[in-house]
Amino acid sequence: MVFLTFTVIIEIMKQLYKFLLNKLPRPLLIRISYVFKFFAPIFYKGNNVECTVCGKSFRKFLSYGSDTAHRENVLCPYDLTLERHRLMWTYLKEHSNFFDADKTIDVLHIAPEQCFHKLFKAQENLNYLTGDLVSPIADIHFDLHKIPLDDNKFDVLFCNHVLEHVEDAMQCMRELHRVMKPGGWGIMQVPQDFSRSETYEDPSITSPEEREKHFWQKDHVRLFGMDYPDWLETAGFEVERFDVNAHMSPEQVNRFRINPKEILYIARKV
Ligand SMILES: [Zn+2]
Repeated sequence: MVFLTFTVIIEIMKQLYKFLLNKLPRPLLIRISYVFKFFAPIFYKGNNVECTVCGKSFRKFLSYGSDTAHRENVLCPYDLTLERHRLMWTYLKEHSNFFDADKTIDVLHIAPEQCFHKLFKAQENLNYLTGDLVSPIADIHFDLHKIPLDDNKFDVLFCNHVLEHVEDAMQCMRELHRVMKPGGWGIMQVPQDFSRSETYEDPSITSPEEREKHFWQKDHVRLFGMDYPDWLETAGFEVERFDVNAHMSPEQVNRFRINPKEILYIARKV
């Protein structure tokens, strides 16, 4: 009887946990992430999926996304990474000198993702600066259309899932190019509609409901298509494609729960 009650309590807690992860807005989730760090290894004990960022294995990941972009088994219950975070980490770890360069790397991280922020900050080979319009965890606050920093300043630049929100994406890309050192590189991922050859913009779509319907999220102002790398090139970058399937086995893609269709663009300044 006691055992049965205990099982029921655990089951209720599990359901509650799942409910919170799905319903709470991501910024709030991140603020209370220590709760997840405690419970995740208990509730999701197992070895079917593995997060490349926290290095932990679980029975499964959680579902995530709005109605128009809902995905199953993608959110790490420990540090809340998604497919794109695990892909970027894999690239940095296995295919770049980000973690083991023999000189200090000057890094600018726009809209720093919480799952990376502390890890990058603690990394001794980085001279790490974060910037955002409002985020309380950013070192400096500014508008990406006019970055208040000198030209040719950073070896590495991250600006993920930002350019679909800004008014003039090309202007922001030019600014990112300006502050990058020649020889530098950056990762500026955006949600990309692989079925669309050209980026879709329509300034007459302004209501949150319409934006979600057309651009996948209430606060998106465009939906990038397969021409996204052309935008980066117009802004001055040379673009290299990192195809998931060319660098990872189907077993790895499945275990890390990475989107096999996602293309990581490495934008270089020559
Ligand atoms: Zn994780």
